[in-house]
Amino acid sequence: MKINILIVEDHELTRFGLKTTFEGVDYIENIYEAESAERALEIFNDNQIDVVIMDLGLPGMNGIEATRKLRDTNKDVKVIILTSHNDEKEVLNSLKAGANAYCSKEINPQRLVTVVQSVADGAAWFDPSIAHIVLKASTSSRRFDTDASGKDYDLTTREKQILKLMTEGYSNMEIAQLLVISINTTKAHVASILQKLEVDDRLQAALKALKNNIV
Ligand code: CA
Repeated sequence: MKINILIVEDHELTRFGLKTTFEGVDYIENIYEAESAERALEIFNDNQIDVVIMDLGLPGMNGIEATRKLRDTNKDVKVIILTSHNDEKEVLNSLKAGANAYCSKEINPQRLVTVVQSVADGAAWFDPSIAHIVLKASTSSRRFDTDASGKDYDLTTREKQILKLMTEGYSNMEIAQLLVISINTTKAHVASILQKLEVDDRLQAALKALKNNIV
């Protein structure tokens, strides 16, 4: 199934580069562009958008506020923050606003193409360069609160294996392919993992796993 993406970036050359990166990618149907958050919201209301690639520093409404508005409008939309700086507060506010992934603008274009596909498929992904910020926050934020470390939550060997892949940002489809199991089996394992870890989504599961050294 093909997806529609929306690129929100005020810098024209960067926007052009992003658009070029996604042109001809087999899983992409339409590429929409906006030079501001306000324009992005208009496009979003008039079109079926699956994944938004969001700059943070925008004229007018910033990317964090725009992310919150997009996710409030439709919680199925996935938002990938693409920014040039990894400010701790910015990272955490993005995640709180509902961003599904956070990437540095230094990211290799081919890697970004993979990240967009993974996120569209339900994976949470954050750039390795910001992982430490998220992990640090996990020790202080209630949302990411965890139990004593060393606990393995009664995960089976298979579940641990899948959880490790989840922390590395692999999508269900990729995990199924890597482990040579069906997508439905993978989804069932992921559902079981979320339940055992008592978390709502993959990002929280990944954070809890890393924090507690489960994987
Ligand atoms: Ca900008």
